[in-house]
Amino acid sequence: MTSENPTAVEGRLVVVGGGTAGAEVAFASRSAGWTGEIIVLSEEAYAPYHRPPLSKDLLKMDAVFADPDPLKGASLYAKKNVDLRLGSRVDGIDATARTLSMNANQSLSYDRLVLAVGGRARELPLIARLETRPSNVHELRTLDDCVRLRSCFQSGRVLMIVGAGYIGLEVAAAAVKAGQRVILLEAATRVLARVTAPVVSQFFEREHAKRGVEILTSTTIESLSFGTDGGVDRVVTSDGSEYHVDNLVVGVGLEPNIELANDAGLEIGNGIVVDDSMTTSDPNILALGDCADFHSGFYDRRVRIESVANAVEHARRAAITLTGGDPKPWQVPWFWSNQYEHSLKIVGLSTGYDETRVIDDSEGTSFAVEYLRDGRLIAVDAINHAAAFQSGKRRIVETIHA
Ligand SMILES: Cc1cc2nc3c(=O)[nH]c(=O)nc-3n(C[C@H](O)[C@H](O)[C@H](O)COP(=O)(O)OP(=O)(O)OC[C@H]3O[C@@H](n4cnc5c(N)ncnc54)[C@H](O)[C@@H]3O)c2cc1C
Repeated sequence: MTSENPTAVEGRLVVVGGGTAGAEVAFASRSAGWTGEIIVLSEEAYAPYHRPPLSKDLLKMDAVFADPDPLKGASLYAKKNVDLRLGSRVDGIDATARTLSMNANQSLSYDRLVLAVGGRARELPLIARLETRPSNVHELRTLDDCVRLRSCFQSGRVLMIVGAGYIGLEVAAAAVKAGQRVILLEAATRVLARVTAPVVSQFFEREHAKRGVEILTSTTIESLSFGTDGGVDRVVTSDGSEYHVDNLVVGVGLEPNIELANDAGLEIGNGIVVDDSMTTSDPNILALGDCADFHSGFYDRRVRIESVANAVEHARRAAITLTGGDPKPWQVPWFWSNQYEHSLKIVGLSTGYDETRVIDDSEGTSFAVEYLRDGRLIAVDAINHAAAFQSGKRRIVETIHA
């Protein structure tokens, strides 16, 4: 119980999903005054862990691979009386009876339910149509995906990556370091086209090309052929070129897991629709993190954001909703990516910008891009430039709240 929430909240809080948002909401709710049961159901075999290292340190050949980097220390679950149930896949919700079903034949009732179910890697239609998924086609969302992909890294092998977003680029950096030939396919005219200005794309294209990554922009897969083991063996690209591949990584974005919510009759938009308090169209059910379509109080529009900072903010906001306190003002969204020795930090959402300003240094390896709309600063990409990130963050907050 806290001074903000003098009334203890009894009842059973069930959280579906043991990722960043799920783990955070369980502990934040306990701290905020939920004194009843808190149960976290996770389909994964591991206690909640950090996902960003999956495409960074954990994928590098020299990383010592032991346990995943846990989000909360193992002893904390017992100490805070958070009942974490691994291997528990929820397959249905009866919102009227306030029960859910899991692992095909178990049932559990709830007083309040939190959906923190994240998303899954988007499939290429060409792969989705196949009867069996080839064993050398990879995605990267879970620790198991990371272990499987890493076990395929071997000097001299050919890795084709489809999609030059953050995950595709981070995998390329780790794979080329492991001595593989890396071919990176991107349908748009430049890498990171959806999220950054051309100058940032050019910087990362140069850095990858310098290490030998072959970047093919405006290029897609035309057809695949298979070896005797059923794995993808050759890829023909849209420009008619043909490549032998040993492994294929698909990094073309995320599909939010909306099916449980949809089947339960909740409102769906670009994710599970929630209001400012993270509550869905059912007052007893909240949704958070990558799966939530929410109204950003910061930018005053509906968005769905895939980032750690967003998942944590949603979880803390939800904990306040569940225990009856006053929500804090919305924070400016931020994100990071590491490729080779370079750090990219992004603050704000640049969508809809009409002007950019580059803040450069003389060597061109440490610079920032400021994104403006109607003359107002809305986002900053800082490349090896911590000061520009910090100052950008402060100025975006001042501008938006002016
Ligand atoms: C490889 C990789 C690198 C990333 N790098 C960065 C980064 O550098 N910076 C950054 O800010 N963000 C990064 N992200 C994004 C960030 O990790 C996510 O935004 C964040 O994990 C979202 O948390 P979440 O709890 O909403 O979803 P998730 O972390 O995806 O957790 C959802 C959990 O719910 C479980 N689940 C789903 N359905 C069910 C069900 N029916 N029953 C039981 N359990 C279920 C899933 O198995 C999963 O464990 C990265 C993501 C990946 C995959």
